[in-house]
Amino acid sequence: MNIVAEAPPQTEPSMEDIIAGLQEKVSASRLSLFLQCRLKFFFRYVLRLKKAKTPALHLGNAVHAVLKAWNKARWLQQPLSLKQAHDAYTAAWADTEEGTVSWKAGEEEDEKTTGWRLLDTYLRESHLPADVKPDAVEVPVEADLARHGLPRLIGILDLVQRRQVIDYKTSASTPNAEKVAHTNEIQTSSYAILYRHNTGGNEAGIQLHHLVKLKNPKIVITLMPSMSPQQQTRLFKQMEAYLDGLQRQHFIPSPGMHCSSCEFINECRLWH
Ligand code: SF4
Repeated sequence: MNIVAEAPPQTEPSMEDIIAGLQEKVSASRLSLFLQCRLKFFFRYVLRLKKAKTPALHLGNAVHAVLKAWNKARWLQQPLSLKQAHDAYTAAWADTEEGTVSWKAGEEEDEKTTGWRLLDTYLRESHLPADVKPDAVEVPVEADLARHGLPRLIGILDLVQRRQVIDYKTSASTPNAEKVAHTNEIQTSSYAILYRHNTGGNEAGIQLHHLVKLKNPKIVITLMPSMSPQQQTRLFKQMEAYLDGLQRQHFIPSPGMHCSSCEFINECRLWH
């Protein structure tokens, strides 16, 4: 007699399981979103509601993919030509399922051109000289912060070069030089912790490379010193607030300027 073992039915994780997983590890982007609006965090990471990708996110992802390829090639000491970079951009742009980006009529070609002009400007201005070998490219890292009573911190470092941690951003407007270090502090402090835990040494500094989508594309590089002890304390306190908020399941709306780009505004209006 043949006995055929049946696979057990797949069950969706419960909300408690999902929250327990979120308490175990956190990334800078999750932490930032939680502190910006807990209800948006709830929709995205607890309920896992799926929404179409915005054109800006799609453009940012394609630009990011080319910078990754460019830096990996430098790391291998086989630099890409601009033509190869353009081919990589074309492939990255096409690498999405149809219907997953919410385009308006005629918008896609304009956005695609904008993305390439950003890259062309950045690469021609030689912000990443071909003859300098990076320390690391696009490396997933984590830091066990259990001895501080905190979740594991996870992240991906875009580029480390000469002990400088470099992160890329595409933006629609020129970042304010005074505010940018403050508004990105959760991310930069997280990267500093990740760098230190994985190398045993301190980062020499942190750089944000903004590729700005103006009519004439502009590159803005913000140089920051290594993380201060005060910044580490601020990050750890923010992580404590994250753990506490998840524990209490305090998923409340925090309306503000950021709501203009929130994909969950309809769900939010129904919340009570
Ligand atoms: S619309 Fe605003 S308040 Fe509502 S979930 Fe989105 S970010 Fe939060």
